[in-house]
Amino acid sequence: MAKHSKRSKVKSIPKAQLEGTGKLASLPTVGEEEAPQSGPLVISFRHLTKIYDAQPEKPALEDVTLDIHAGEFVFLVGHSGSGKTTFIRLLNREIVATRGTLKVAGEDLMNIKGWRIPYLRRNIGCVFQDFKLLPNRTVYENVAFALEVIGKSSTVVRKQAPEVLRLVGLEAKMDKMPDQLSGGEQQRVSIARAVVNRPPLLICDEPTGNLDPQTSLGIMRLLERINRTGTTIVVATHDREMVDNMRRRVIALENGHVVRDQDKGVYAFNA
Ligand code: ADP
Ligand code: MG
Repeated sequence: MAKHSKRSKVKSIPKAQLEGTGKLASLPTVGEEEAPQSGPLVISFRHLTKIYDAQPEKPALEDVTLDIHAGEFVFLVGHSGSGKTTFIRLLNREIVATRGTLKVAGEDLMNIKGWRIPYLRRNIGCVFQDFKLLPNRTVYENVAFALEVIGKSSTVVRKQAPEVLRLVGLEAKMDKMPDQLSGGEQQRVSIARAVVNRPPLLICDEPTGNLDPQTSLGIMRLLERINRTGTTIVVATHDREMVDNMRRRVIALENGHVVRDQDKGVYAFNA
């Protein structure tokens, strides 16, 4: 079952993408001779275990060791309860691992100081199944707010918010309220909000969970476009068809264990 293919070449991240992300840019890069496939490390798990207090007998993740490099597009797949959301929530330090080592965007998350967590989170855009838009704000305001809360000037907000709404194809709907949009459009707004600050890492938990197949495909194509600008993307999903179509790296979880890590993978070997 756990068949591993040799990881193939990962495109190196453009210099420009690293600008403004001092932590990432300062990460040591792996020597060419040792690992020619590798760009800078963005995520590094070593023997990571997460046990929730409510379930002390059953680790949600157990002994996970893997690396994700800058510029990768990774699917995290597995049945409900396999540990996908736990994996995602560990990355932005929403939850803390029980033991092991976890490094994300240059931060050691097992030892990070509380005051640094907001800086970590500026480097990580988050997209969820249920969009989490502010219902009483317009599309534009939802995106602008993400910049305002991190103290960006109104000049920056007025430039970057419309720019990213153009990127996701919603420039014509800037003044609509979220409930005037389709599910796919709302997810585009939430993606715009997640990337407006140009984070080097975008994490998505079941981003197409509430969408029909055609709309889901559009969302994945959008994520692909964002990935092509150099953004590292991790997508937790149990959308088998999507994963099979995209042929990207697939990390498969079963009961909290990594059972497969495959380049250009499919959802499962036996359907
Ligand atoms: P997935 O996203 O793949 O469905 P989760 O990461 O949500 O998986 O869950 C992994 C395991 O951890 C499951 O057994 C689930 O019941 C358990 N779990 C998840 N969140 C909590 C929590 N807050 N408290 C206790 N157990 C949890
Ligand atoms: Mg989940």
